[in-house]
Amino acid sequence: MATVSHIEGFEKLRLLDAAIEQARHAVLITDADLDEGPCIVYVNAAFEQMTGYARSDVLGKTPALLQGPRTSRVVLDRLRAALESGGDFDGETINYRKDGSTYMVRWQVSPVYAEDAPERITHFVSIQQDVTEERARDERLRLLSTAVEVSGDPVMITDPSGTITYVNATFEELMGVARSEVLGDNPRRFKSGRQDDAFYRVMWQTLERGETFRGEFVNRRRDGSLVHLEQTITPVLDDRGRISHYVALGKDITDRVRMEDEIRRVAHTDWLTGVANRLSLGNTLEAEIERCQRYGRPLSLIMFDLDHFKAVNDRYGHEAGDEVLKSLAQTVTAELREADTLGRWGGEEFMIVVPETRLVGANALAEKLRQAVAAMNVPGVPSVTASFGVAELASGDSAKLLARRADEAMYQAKQAGRDRVVAL
Ligand code: GH3
Ligand code: MG
Ligand code: MG
Repeated sequence: MATVSHIEGFEKLRLLDAAIEQARHAVLITDADLDEGPCIVYVNAAFEQMTGYARSDVLGKTPALLQGPRTSRVVLDRLRAALESGGDFDGETINYRKDGSTYMVRWQVSPVYAEDAPERITHFVSIQQDVTEERARDERLRLLSTAVEVSGDPVMITDPSGTITYVNATFEELMGVARSEVLGDNPRRFKSGRQDDAFYRVMWQTLERGETFRGEFVNRRRDGSLVHLEQTITPVLDDRGRISHYVALGKDITDRVRMEDEIRRVAHTDWLTGVANRLSLGNTLEAEIERCQRYGRPLSLIMFDLDHFKAVNDRYGHEAGDEVLKSLAQTVTAELREADTLGRWGGEEFMIVVPETRLVGANALAEKLRQAVAAMNVPGVPSVTASFGVAELASGDSAKLLARRADEAMYQAKQAGRDRVVAL
């Protein structure tokens, strides 16, 4: 087989001609007449295809026929200066096809020197490329990245191992960090500990399947405060289908979460005494009954009502009555365990859910509470008393049945003279 060094003379010329003729880039050769304007002496097939000109259209003409009103004068001046000084040129501008349409061209020009006189330039070789689509893509990318950068929502991009490669300005501002300090770091630096391992496991499983993960993240700012983010994390695949990046788009929902927490708190709290309201107490009772029945654990219920409270209101005023109710809630709460739930069932009627406690224990607790209430000191109001009814959960009991028994016990306490405890 022939090697390159063996290709000589006509064979070499033929090979070079074929190579240039078949080149993917447009090739144009001019003479070196810079005064009259260089004359085109050769163009290849790619040139014909790029410009729409046939070889016969351009031979003998100057490359200026490719130029038009939108061709950059500045770039052409630079080209002329380079050619006059015998240097290389590399530039980009808008050129015109034969049909008048425009394209963005990138081209390089190099001088060719005479074989016998290495100082004398005989030709210029220009290699040209239509970069219209490339530039349009660059422009689209530039637009998109500007949009991401100025987006009002935080954006973070990581590589497949989770290393942060990009955060936008909103992210910096929201998390109270500078870009320079988080790039190269891992998003776990923002972990608040509010999500458990299972949350992250599901997240990674979803992402590794190439699917989008949506979740509510609670992140910690540099100053320690918490940010609630509704976040969408999407894997980005490269052209071989492998994950190249993860893009996390967030929405700051901190205000909404705070408001929801507050609404939930208000919806479950009695406005006057601050203890659970009837709705919340009912929920707790239902849940505790279900739990105790499932695990065969004991549960008791204490119901109590102030004695002759109407008279307290009548004599000392409704506001004084309110003060009594507030003190009552405080006094009783102070006697309870963490697991017990005190709630306001009605006007001056309260209920306590007492888990893990049989009738005897609940009876003793009620007796302790009765004494605490009687010993209570509310400014401007002489001592008050309350009557207590106690019942224990029986198998097959519903919340309604259990509450009815506690109510019945309390009624009996009232009947028997008030300021006492009756257990049924
Ligand atoms: P007893 O329970 O011992 O039979 O007598 P009582 O006078 O307490 O009678 P009852 O329980 O029927 O009356 C409830 C009274 O509680 C009526 C109302 O004036 C008063 N009350 C209910 N809710 C409030 C409240 O939010 N604030 C004040 N100040 N009083 C209330
Ligand atoms: Mg009463
Ligand atoms: Mg009452």
